[in-house]
Amino acid sequence: MSPQETSGTDRELIDTLARPLHDLRISVTDRCNFRCTYCMPEEIFGEKYKFLPRAEILSFEEIERLVGIFTGLGARKLRITGGEPLLRVDLPDLLARIAQVPGVEDLALTTNATLLPRQAAALAEAGLRRVTISLDSLDEDVFSQMNGGKLSVARVLEGVEAAERAGLGPIKINTVVQKGVNDHTLVELARHFKGTGHIVRFIEYMDVGTRNAWDMNQVLPAAEIVERIGAELPLAPAEPNYRGEVAKRWRYQDGQGEIGVIASVTQPFCGDCTRARLTTEGQLVTCLFAEKGVDLRTPLRNGSSDAEIRDLIVATWRKRSDRYSDERQELLQIEGVKPSRRRIEMYQVGG
Ligand code: SAM
Ligand code: SF4
Ligand code: SF4
Repeated sequence: MSPQETSGTDRELIDTLARPLHDLRISVTDRCNFRCTYCMPEEIFGEKYKFLPRAEILSFEEIERLVGIFTGLGARKLRITGGEPLLRVDLPDLLARIAQVPGVEDLALTTNATLLPRQAAALAEAGLRRVTISLDSLDEDVFSQMNGGKLSVARVLEGVEAAERAGLGPIKINTVVQKGVNDHTLVELARHFKGTGHIVRFIEYMDVGTRNAWDMNQVLPAAEIVERIGAELPLAPAEPNYRGEVAKRWRYQDGQGEIGVIASVTQPFCGDCTRARLTTEGQLVTCLFAEKGVDLRTPLRNGSSDAEIRDLIVATWRKRSDRYSDERQELLQIEGVKPSRRRIEMYQVGG
């Protein structure tokens, strides 16, 4: 390897489409206390399902070491996810380790919030600054239908309050929109959080993984989401906060805050995708829709040096040409078919 290739600080690491590596999403567990039909449906993730044994998942030391290597290559924004990340034992200890790694400028967490009442204060103390909370509907029946009937809407809202109290706001609320399932409850959700400072982000239902029998007919296009909400709560477009922001911003005309829409299906944003993902068992994945990842756990455990692991990440990123959502749109437009191929599951890469 040339000096340029071994040192991420010499010049910016970019992939074949000139995209730098700025974000790292770390999945800390493959387990979850929900069974969302679009992510971990109960029929597949039932009692007999074998989750990863402890020896196969990355330890806190291993994650911390990788974070140091990734920040050396330009990663600045880190997000902890899963599975349900709050199920990982002693998560605040991991956050405390990561928060002090030089180069980490933004540390966030995505959660279903049900364990936040117990953990929010410890997480904030450990250095967490922001949480994203997933909530698909305020309607108990709809919520239960989408999330596998495990826990109530009230429990999630308690989590939102706990996060607020711990200073983890303003909170982003992630809402996956499935046509014919929760689309009639979107305005109610928007209204509930309007004026609170929290930002609901409506996400087009995606064909992640292979287990959710996705169909384009189940996608409510972002333009329609905005139209429906705007008809009752007038909206105006807002400028992005930064280049490549995934959610398109819409502000309430009465000044009472904003919503976001993530049009991953109808207006894909692969051209600006600077995200790398680390699975629970230590695979580096360069796209949410990748077929497989690159194993970093073996070199971590066989005595490889940081420079060797860095070279492996550099070589992987340099080769990266992923643009699945752009391709999906081309396929859907030209042929009207749904793309099919092997993919890593959402609970493994963490969204
Ligand atoms: N368990 C945590 C949670 O639900 O917030 C973190 C992991 S979850 C995989 C991360 C995000 O991915 C959640 O906001 C979830 O709603 C979203 N997600 C999962 N499957 C999806 C799909 N098929 N389409 C769009 N978003 C999806
Ligand atoms: Fe669990 Fe999150 Fe997947 Fe729902 S979306 S099953 S809460 S990991
Ligand atoms: Fe990034 Fe892949 Fe999503 Fe495109 S499809 S935005 S490359 S994760």
